[in-house]
Amino acid sequence: MEAKARGYACPRCTVGRCTPQATIFADVYQGHLLSIPNSRAFVCDVCHFVEFEQELLDALWDELYGETAVDEVQPVARHKRESSYSEGSG
Ligand SMILES: [Zn+2]
Repeated sequence: MEAKARGYACPRCTVGRCTPQATIFADVYQGHLLSIPNSRAFVCDVCHFVEFEQELLDALWDELYGETAVDEVQPVARHKRESSYSEGSG
C-alpha cells in the first residue's frame, strides 16, 4: 500500500523524507545571484537535500528565459525526478 502523504523518500540518502517547506530558492541568473524567499520546496529531514517543485522551476524558467530560451543554457536545478536510484533486484 502506498500512503500518498506529503513528502517522499529522499532520492539522495534514501533514508530521510522530503517534506514541503518554505525555503529560499537561489540560482545564478546572468551572473547575478537570484534568491526568492519563501519558495516552496521539498527538504529532506536527514541530509537536507532540497528539491524545488517543478512547477516553480517551470514558472521561474519561463519568466527568466522564456523569450530567449536557448538549448545551450539549462538551469542547474531543472531535472526530472527519476527512479534510477532504485535498488537492484536481488
Ligand atoms: Zn536525504
